[in-house]
Amino acid sequence: MSTSPVEARNLSLLSVVVPCLDEELVIATTHSRILSALDATTGFDLEIIYVDDGSQDSTLTILRELQQADQRVKVISLSRNFGQFAALTAGMQHATGDVVALIDADLQDPPEIIPEMLELWQQGADIVRGLRTKRLDETRFKVWSSRIFMRTLNKLSDTTFVSGIGEFGIMDRVAVDAFLGMPESQRYLRGMVSWLGFHQEEVYFERQARLAGKTKYSLRKLINLAVDSAVAFSIGPLRFITWMGFLFSGVAFLGLIYTIIVVLFADSSISAWIIILLSVLSLGGLQLISLGIIGEYVGRIYNEAKRRPSYLIRERLGFTPKSGAE
Ligand code: UDP
Ligand code: MG
Repeated sequence: MSTSPVEARNLSLLSVVVPCLDEELVIATTHSRILSALDATTGFDLEIIYVDDGSQDSTLTILRELQQADQRVKVISLSRNFGQFAALTAGMQHATGDVVALIDADLQDPPEIIPEMLELWQQGADIVRGLRTKRLDETRFKVWSSRIFMRTLNKLSDTTFVSGIGEFGIMDRVAVDAFLGMPESQRYLRGMVSWLGFHQEEVYFERQARLAGKTKYSLRKLINLAVDSAVAFSIGPLRFITWMGFLFSGVAFLGLIYTIIVVLFADSSISAWIIILLSVLSLGGLQLISLGIIGEYVGRIYNEAKRRPSYLIRERLGFTPKSGAE
């Protein structure tokens, strides 16, 4: 908590950014929950930006109707599915509020927590993030694998990652601009926000079960996400290769000395072809893994070098020509 007195922060506009991929079952309920949670806290205007991330169902149609009914609703429709982080970035790029809130469309993050977050902002926090105390939705496997992964990532990386933090939270304009100033097109959002620094606070909340519909993260997508974040935030895996190199060279060197001694002074007919085969195989395997790790980095350099935008917009609804720059 900030001990220094902060000049009174005045919230005149709050932007809420909601990424949506095939959320036709929940989106209308989500909208009314967001409204009733935030309309109760008066004193500021509201803008809700829904980013349709290439939905195949009727999400966009529903969003259109919501927008027609309420001028505070804005809709960005991406040209295809670019992923949650790209969708959030698109929404943030169009948000004009003094504070921007990020929230999932499936009501796993309760919008009722946002006023609590705003209070911390008022007291001087630049970024307030939701920290899950319980995960009512998720399998043991998901919780444990994410915990182990977070530990490893923290060991590898200079940035501190807190287990249980997702995208749910609010950011001050200064932090939003800093985030948007980060040029990478592969945007691992929660890591990037940790990297930003500023005055960050956390609010505990119980992560609810998804209201309806299915998770958009398959096991394959989750593994990709894990590899992405490990590679995006650390060169630890590259260093690991170097250490393995040292280790194997050391072992080989000792083995060589041993063999020479044995051949010179003892038995000269060592028929240890099985040892040779095994060491060739294990070294070959290690080299392939190493190449793979290097390849992960090279591939990402290649992707960034193309300088493609992280998303493309097909349609925008509810924005005045001036609001929201691309
Ligand atoms: N989402 C998205 N694009 C994607 C995947 C997900 O916009 O490619 C949205 C999704 O509609 C939801 C949020 O991101 O609002 C979180 O997705 P989900 O609930 O499937 O993830 P989980 O909560 O299971 O981790
Ligand atoms: Mg969810």
